[in-house]
Amino acid sequence: MAHERCEQCGTLTPPWDTIHCGSGDGRYELLCSRCFNARIAESAGFTDFENVRLDPILMADYSGESHQFHFQIRLLGDGLALDAFELRGDLPAGYRFQLIGEPDDDVLLLLGRLVEKMRRALSVQHIDFRERRIIDSTVRGRIEWDEAQDGHLPLVVVDGKEVSWNDLGRMLMSMEGWQFRLDIADPSEEL
Ligand SMILES: [Zn+2]
Repeated sequence: MAHERCEQCGTLTPPWDTIHCGSGDGRYELLCSRCFNARIAESAGFTDFENVRLDPILMADYSGESHQFHFQIRLLGDGLALDAFELRGDLPAGYRFQLIGEPDDDVLLLLGRLVEKMRRALSVQHIDFRERRIIDSTVRGRIEWDEAQDGHLPLVVVDGKEVSWNDLGRMLMSMEGWQFRLDIADPSEEL
């Protein structure tokens, strides 16, 4: 996907780091996340907000395979969202993590907490993808849109990998007769 210029600073920005921002007169501007945050900070009076850019990092998963994580900070009306995600092409795919903080929190401290959370999650393997089976009795993942299913069935991302709803169902059939519990949690909660 093409990079677009931030209408504020003119920086060529990848699609995952641009935000459409309503400007009050009904017009929408395309801003990079830093210009977006600067605007929110100014209008909300968050004078302590540090508008930093976080460089990508590499982290190893349970098997030693390394994953590159990109970060995005977004100031919300009353909080700060810190997101970490992998990219496929120019779009987020694979592992994805979020932490919610206060606008005046120290961003590097939040980053430290997020990295700890990522480390805990990356160290756990839920599915044996070669044998196509659930390893223990717990599966943690994320619900996503499945292009092939047109919104009728979800695609789940487990261990940073996409698993179709059918494949997950097939894996569950080795536990026929067992009970299960399905818990849904906000993207920033730790499962
Ligand atoms: Zn900008």
